Amino acid sequence: MPDCIFCKIVAGQIPAKLVYQDEQVLAFHDISPGAPVHVLIVPRRHIESLAALTEEDAAVMGHLLAAAEPVAQLAGVAASGYRVVFNVGRDAGIAVYHLHAHLLGGRKLSWPPG
Ligand code: 5GP
Ligand code: ZN
Repeated sequence: MPDCIFCKIVAGQIPAKLVYQDEQVLAFHDISPGAPVHVLIVPRRHIESLAALTEEDAAVMGHLLAAAEPVAQLAGVAASGYRVVFNVGRDAGIAVYHLHAHLLGGRKLSWPPG
């Protein structure tokens, strides 16, 4: 998708600090971390949002969620715990329209989120 910042990261056109990659997903450190560990997990294929998911995306989404634990292990928070969050829409503060999971950890996380 032209002009999509995460598609450019997937294509290697914009640098990112990679944590994990496989044939379907990429995980990299958030440029503006909200916790000591803040990693974004994105599908390589452009999907606009959680709100745009279809049945055809089920396999890649399952794969993305299954990647969270290995990503947490690589980022050093699997034992201490972590949170996986998808933002949708204005009230959640969505900024990038390429589907991404935030994996946050490395400190005690308050609940509910602010
Ligand atoms: P959203 O609010 O859309 O759920 O989150 C988008 C996230 O992407 C934000 O946490 C923001 O800091 C991060 N981000 C935006 N642009 C870049 C970038 O160019 N590189 C990286 N690594 N993260 C980015
Ligand atoms: Zn994209």
